[in-house]
Amino acid sequence: QALCALPAEPGAASAFVAADYDQLVDAPIFAGSPLVQSFVESGKEVLVVTEGADARWPQAQALQDVQRLVRTQRHLWGELPFARYIFFNLLVEGYGGLEHRDCAVLMASGWAARSRKDYLEWLGLVSHEFFHLWNIKRLRPVELGPFNYEAENPTPSLWIAEGFTAYYDDLLVHRAGLCSREEYLGRLGRAIERLHQSPGRLVQPLAEASFDAWIKFYRRDENSDNATVNYYLKGSVVAFLLDAKIRLLTGGRQSLDEVMRLALQRFAHGYTQSAFTALCDQVAGASLAPFFHCCVDTATEVDLGEALAYYGLGFGGGDAAAAAPAGSLGIVPRLDGGRLWVAEVRRGGAAWEAGLQPDDELLGIDAWRIAPTRFVERLRSFAPGSRLSLLVARRERLARLPVTLGADSQAFANLSFVPQPSAAQRQARDGWLGALPASP
Ligand SMILES: [Zn+2]
Repeated sequence: QALCALPAEPGAASAFVAADYDQLVDAPIFAGSPLVQSFVESGKEVLVVTEGADARWPQAQALQDVQRLVRTQRHLWGELPFARYIFFNLLVEGYGGLEHRDCAVLMASGWAARSRKDYLEWLGLVSHEFFHLWNIKRLRPVELGPFNYEAENPTPSLWIAEGFTAYYDDLLVHRAGLCSREEYLGRLGRAIERLHQSPGRLVQPLAEASFDAWIKFYRRDENSDNATVNYYLKGSVVAFLLDAKIRLLTGGRQSLDEVMRLALQRFAHGYTQSAFTALCDQVAGASLAPFFHCCVDTATEVDLGEALAYYGLGFGGGDAAAAAPAGSLGIVPRLDGGRLWVAEVRRGGAAWEAGLQPDDELLGIDAWRIAPTRFVERLRSFAPGSRLSLLVARRERLARLPVTLGADSQAFANLSFVPQPSAAQRQARDGWLGALPASP
């Protein structure tokens, strides 16, 4: 069986018609014997084509959840702009996705529904690629189309195209009723935490991260975390802050949702970064130039204070406060050939100060030989501030490096609601996340 989002050639089995080259390369063709499910939403047919659907995959539940996501997104954008849409859900032990005009390819594990965390991850992926059917495929940076297939197509606006999509993917899983407020905050909080663990956030401005994606984001090296910032990650945090700011400035009457809807109407032929931020100003009823200057044009630390206060959010609730902080070396390790190597050294971390370098091999701590698979765990058993001697091999030559452990960043762990919100904070939360069902 061959499946493709392109219209079928009348009278021919497994033949499809593309109007031009752009359509052709944007329409993957699936050949195989998948599970094909479908539903109709607002009069439009949506297919969920799953490869590798076996006993591990909850096919009825997954279909129902996808439909709720589709409905929630239609509600945000206004209408479903296709005749027929296909999710190619490939359970092939990979992870990733790619959006197309009338379909998306999702890659996940066949085990993805066996834990709540992994299933939420999968729902987030479905939500992300479906959001792209508007944000990127029909509302795009002016630089991204028509494509010149023989040259790079750099744009400063991937923080909008990808970052805003990364903000909305989990948020819409929550608004669809598929995860609790606490689960959503957990995922948002981890994004904020990951951003603050990335030294490159204070080096590379967001717009530059987007513009240089071709030469940096997709060509990572051992210094990437120190020198670059992930525009998905920082873009999603900036979207969270921008959404809160617009809600705050308009007394909760407007939001980033409205910006996205207006942008879709207004920018049929693509937007420039400045046209998009001008639209944000218009919806907010105020100039957001200082906000965008800080968050997008410079590598200044983003200010979370306003958004946290507006919704009544704080860090460090729950388990984080109880757990003793673990010592941190500030490296990204790499297990390769049964040996443990330093892949990256974080700027300003303990390893950085001690002179550890990428491609050093980690052998022992103080007087002990440590198995490569246990090294990280053993290290965490030492408290921050512990002074240790690391045994390493650098190009096969043994060396001992004295090191003083830093602390795992705890400052941004466990985002949660403050226990006693004001009436205004309660209202702000409901506007943002959707009102909770009235208690019986
Ligand atoms: Zn994306």
